[in-house]
Amino acid sequence: MKSLNLILIGPPGSGKGTQAELLREKNSFVHYSTGEVFRDHIRRKTPVGLQVERYVTSGGLVPDSVVLEVVNSFLAENAGKAILFDGFPRTIPQAEGLDKVLAENQLAVDMAVLVDLADDEVVKRLTARRQCRSCSKIYNLTFKPPKKGGVCDDCDGEIYQRKDDSENVIRDRLNTYHKQTEPVIGYYSTQGKLKRIDGALGRDRVYEEVTRLIGAA
Ligand code: ADP
Repeated sequence: MKSLNLILIGPPGSGKGTQAELLREKNSFVHYSTGEVFRDHIRRKTPVGLQVERYVTSGGLVPDSVVLEVVNSFLAENAGKAILFDGFPRTIPQAEGLDKVLAENQLAVDMAVLVDLADDEVVKRLTARRQCRSCSKIYNLTFKPPKKGGVCDDCDGEIYQRKDDSENVIRDRLNTYHKQTEPVIGYYSTQGKLKRIDGALGRDRVYEEVTRLIGAA
């Protein structure tokens, strides 16, 4: 796949992570999820992990300076590849920071895909969401439960519920999304880079749409 910088944007639980996982498997994208990066730092108790833990568990946003630091070090190694940004940028300063570092590499954001979903549906989905502690595969107790109960179908890792997937934290994350991340949608829309997909269509139809859009990029 040619060098492509693609952004997946949308409320928590809209299915961005699932789409990113599918795209990584079927195309040769580097999947870069800032949420996964932070959870990994927290697990390993690194200095970044200790710094970000309270934001991640409470559903608030990690400060832009910390986010841009980890993204910049990722791009120092990976700029020029086909990259799928998942959960980043989440604020206008992050979007501007990304543009700046890409421009330094003669690159730019090619497309931002919004996977949209109503708040009530988000709450319904996320309270049923589970994840593998080892390989990060995502499950849903309602429509995609793990086959063997509490362990991962792929790697036998432990299935757990993220602390930030409890209902009150989900409501906080939605508020944060509406306040801080929705302006980012406007930012890419003004640049003519935004494509919108209805997240309620379900995993396979959304994937068809995403791949059709990327094919046209
Ligand atoms: P979701 O999209 O399902 O909310 P993520 O895995 O993308 O989950 O993010 C989990 C948490 O990590 C966020 O609630 C936030 O605290 C932190 N985080 C992830 N990405 C960013 C970012 N780009 N800017 C600020 N905080 C972030």
